[in-house]
Amino acid sequence: MSYVFPPPAQVSVEVKGRAERFPVNRIYCVGRNYAAHAREMGKDPDREPPFFFTKPANALVPNNSTIPYPPRTANLHHEIELVIAIGKGGKDIATASALEHVFGYAVGNDLTRRDLQFAARDAGRPWDTGKAFDRSAPITAIQPAQGQGFDKGKIWIKVNGEFRQQADVADLIWDVPEIISELSTLFELAPGDLIFTGTPAGVGAVKPGDHLEGGIDGLDTLITTIS
Ligand code: MN
Repeated sequence: MSYVFPPPAQVSVEVKGRAERFPVNRIYCVGRNYAAHAREMGKDPDREPPFFFTKPANALVPNNSTIPYPPRTANLHHEIELVIAIGKGGKDIATASALEHVFGYAVGNDLTRRDLQFAARDAGRPWDTGKAFDRSAPITAIQPAQGQGFDKGKIWIKVNGEFRQQADVADLIWDVPEIISELSTLFELAPGDLIFTGTPAGVGAVKPGDHLEGGIDGLDTLITTIS
């Protein structure tokens, strides 16, 4: 096959302990999946369940990167999150078999232009300008899951050495099997899909020069510098 110009490179993520990389298809994200974060966003988690939105695959940024402060915002926020990497596709997946679809797990940061997100939210418009911008998805290497779930573990982020978010993956409203099951009723999942599972309370602004360091027990530490 030939193209009118060179096609974009396949987006991929490093896999721990493997020379082969994980080829990325789509990025799904879960909104308001920790009760305390839903409340800090002004929402009642008992009345509104979590929901999904997306980012483009080419928003991914490898670990240990420096990224420029993005345009058209004065309120860039960190959101540290557990990321599920899907290795086997499917639709209408039952929670009981959901873990069979997991290739592995990583740590991600769902960077958010909060001012643009809230402007869109308040106008009833899509979130893309707030969420799906260039370089909005730093991610660590993927740790292969080997059939294991991810139902607990400390999740945290420090900015310039100070803790901003500290919680436990056990506090997810929708856990890993429930996220996969629910998402697969809306979209047929495919190998290469990533799912950012939502952030705990404590989101806040970052500025040029900030050093971000975030982690989840058992996974790599995600290091990002804002320039
Ligand atoms: Mn998020």
